[in-house]
Amino acid sequence: MRTIGLIGGMSWQSSRLYYDRINQMTVDRLGGLHSAQVTVFSIDFAPLAVMQAEGRWAEAGQLMADAARSLERAGADVIAIGANTMHKVAGAVTDAVDTPLLHIGDALATALRREARSRPLLLGTRFTMEDAFMREHLAAKGLEAVVPEKQDREALHAVIYDELVKGVVTEAARARVRGMIDAAGETGADSVIFGCTEIGMLFPPTDAGLPGYDTLEIHAAALVDFALA
Ligand code: GLU
Repeated sequence: MRTIGLIGGMSWQSSRLYYDRINQMTVDRLGGLHSAQVTVFSIDFAPLAVMQAEGRWAEAGQLMADAARSLERAGADVIAIGANTMHKVAGAVTDAVDTPLLHIGDALATALRREARSRPLLLGTRFTMEDAFMREHLAAKGLEAVVPEKQDREALHAVIYDELVKGVVTEAARARVRGMIDAAGETGADSVIFGCTEIGMLFPPTDAGLPGYDTLEIHAAALVDFALA
């Protein structure tokens, strides 16, 4: 079994779900007393969130690079950034280590294409929805991601940073996100990407109203495939 190196803490609410899913998928595949061989480098999210908000992406990239180097030294065979947003600086990680990075967008695109989706609604932080990195990553694989209207993007960003990363799940947030998905379905989206690793805390992708793709679940499955190959 190969060792998964996970950069976590972005937020720790989703890292514990990564840890849970990676282990559950491993025992589902291998049975018995098996569990995943995984090293987690969990960062303090508060300073990172400030860097994101202030646009200090080079510094945030250095933080990711340092974490990746630690995981490489600890013997990781693959590195995963356990969040969508921080893939904005995925290049800082690939430049810093020889260990391969399993990009969340690659795993996601493979899952969408397998089911012939072409126009997914992309939900995530403001950075993931508005900056080019994720939409371009998907466009390079023939997927035209659409995003909610500005007011909805702001509301979702606030739900993520004010509630979900703190472990707070409210009916109001559930209803607001469902409304965004319904609106996108009416204007031609054929699927919805949970492009933030905390969105699945609201409801499972199977309850999304459109065919749902949870990046945490898809990323975890791709990591387990790699580890057990
Ligand atoms: N986990 C998040 C994501 O998937 C948001 C928190 C962060 O900014 O890292 O984008």
